[in-house]
This record gives sequence, C-alpha cells and structure tokens, in this order.
Amino acid sequence: MRITALAGGVGGARFLRGLLASLAASDDPARRDADVTVIGNTGDDITLFGLRVCPDLDTVMYTLGGGIDDSQGWGRADETHVVQAELAAYGAQPQWFGLGDRDIATHVARSQLLGLGLPLSEVTDVLCRRWGLPARRVRLLPMTDDPVETHVVVDVADGRRAVHFQEWWVRMQAGVPAEQIVAVGMDGASAGPGVLETIRKADVVLLPPSNPVVSIGIILGVPGVRDALRGTVAPVVGVCPLVGGRPVRGHADACLTAIGVETSARAVAGLYEDFLDGWLVDDADAAGPWPARLAVRGRPLLMSDVDAAAAIAGAALDLAGELDSAPARA
Ligand code: GDP
Ligand code: CA
Repeated sequence: MRITALAGGVGGARFLRGLLASLAASDDPARRDADVTVIGNTGDDITLFGLRVCPDLDTVMYTLGGGIDDSQGWGRADETHVVQAELAAYGAQPQWFGLGDRDIATHVARSQLLGLGLPLSEVTDVLCRRWGLPARRVRLLPMTDDPVETHVVVDVADGRRAVHFQEWWVRMQAGVPAEQIVAVGMDGASAGPGVLETIRKADVVLLPPSNPVVSIGIILGVPGVRDALRGTVAPVVGVCPLVGGRPVRGHADACLTAIGVETSARAVAGLYEDFLDGWLVDDADAAGPWPARLAVRGRPLLMSDVDAAAAIAGAALDLAGELDSAPARA
C-alpha cells in the first residue's frame, strides 16, 4: 500500500507518528508493509543568522525519528540554548525565534549541503537518514526545491507592509490581523522531485489535521499539486484540525479569517471540496448539513497521545478503504 500525506508541523507530525504506529500494529499485511510518503510544507522556511531553517520539515523529521521535544511539539528533546544566549550577547537579531543548540546543528548541516549546491529534497534525505526514516518506510519530500516563503500582509507600526510568516506567528502571536497571506516565490516554483507522482500513484492520500491555510493551503498552491489531487484515483481523506469548532493549538482561526473563511469543520472541508472524498471530524463538529458527495465520519479527534493519534489514523485508513470499495470509485 502506498500512502501519501501532506503535512505541516506539529499537527501533521503527531498524526503521522500515529499513522506509523497504526500501520505497525495492523493485522492487515498490506498496512504493515505500507510505504508512507510525506509531502512537507516549506512555506515556513526562513533564513536566520545565515542558516536555512525548515521548521515543518524538521518537526516531522524529529517526531518520526524520536528526537522531538514532545511537551512542546517542536524542537529537540534535551535541548540547551547556549548559542542563542551568545547571539543575544552580541545583539544579533532576531531574538524572538527559539533556536536550541541541537536544533542549530540541523540547520548548520542543512545550510552546508545547500551551499554545496544540493537541492533541498536531497538535503532533506541526507538529514532524514540520520533519524532512520527511510528504513522505517517513510520518505519526507519537501513540496518544492525552490525557495518559497509565506509572508503576511499586516499593518505594522514600523511602516513595513508585510512580515515573514514566522514573525507574525511567533513574535506577534498572530495577534495583528492578517490582511493577506502570500506565498512569495510560488509563481516561479515547481513541485519537488516525486511530489506529483506520489500523489497520482498513491493508493490512499491523507490530509493530516494540519493548518488548512499556512500548511496544507501552501502545499496546495504548488503548481500541479491541486490537479494531481483532483486526478488521483486514490481516495483522499482528511482529518479536521478543529475540535469543537476551534483549533487545538496555534492560530488557525486567525489564518482562516485572513482568507475570509469561517472557522468551522464544514468551511475547512470547503477549502478541499474539489478533491476531498472523506472527512473525519470531531464528534462535536459532526452535525450537518454536509455536501452529499463527501463521506463524513465523527469520532474523537484529540491526539492526546500516540495511541489516540494511531486510532485516528486507523479510522482515516478505514474510511479510505470504504471509499475505495464503493461502486462509484470502482
Ligand atoms: P504547525 O505547522 O506546527 O502549526 O502544525 P500543523 O500545520 O501541522 O498543524 C497545526 C494544526 O494542528 C492546528 O490547526 C491544530 O488545531 C491542529 N491540531 C493540533 N493538535 C491536534 C489534535 O490533537 N487534534 C486535531 N484534530 N487537530 C490538532
Ligand atoms: Ca508550520
């Protein structure tokens, strides 16, 4: 079984860790031997202190590789912050983005390889090997090898009209209303190696409960991705990132407001309506009406631990299986 998933950071990574646990524990040999390909969001990427930082790719890599700070959801376990304190002593900017020492090593290694001319996809592969990801039948593909950065149009006092997504999200805590969210560089970007193929040739495509605007939405903007999702014969099943109509963490509501979309399970499904076949929502959000062609299932969607995430991922695969054997898709 070939499973392809689109993922942002923490929500995507926690779902994917559950997916791997669910596959490993499955009675179904097809699931136990499944290959998982993750298409990661690179819109959050930023250059800090001359280092290329890819927060969403790293969150997935650390989480699946067992190196994540689980209480925080991002960054490395057993982290120290000596380098950051030294940078602050020099007055080096910015100081609002947390970079731990172990994490910095990842960015140094990445930047060195990028500097040698390797594309981000190859660099990501090298970094993932350290975490044993290919051995676990998981591949992590950046959505594109081209530099794309999500910027947010805001009214800031210093006269700038837009800031990097990270500055809006981390420094401003999304507290300043976003007028627009723009993927800078997307016009000239193309999908990374294997990205479109892995969607077209998948047996199942999953949308983890990642941010629908700045994670999944950015990946959907990569030329060809949306068409590949519309064209794939695989059932496409999504997991809603809202529980009780609210984001579980982060500011997805502020992102949805910025694009003029209501914060509801129904409205998020609407963003995917041209390709979504199945939609897992929390029980609290299951009441309709729902579009007739969308298979909606309610269940608890809080990923409180790996087992809970595994149960959600298993339910997503079950729904995909149901859709796959439905006469309309045969
Ligand atoms: P980020 O890049 O670190 O912000 O992570 P993602 O984009 O992958 O995921 C963020 C989304 O995950 C947020 O909108 C959250 O509401 C959602 N999320 C986080 N934890 C849970 C959970 O336990 N259940 C569900 N359904 N969604 C979650
Ligand atoms: Ca992110």
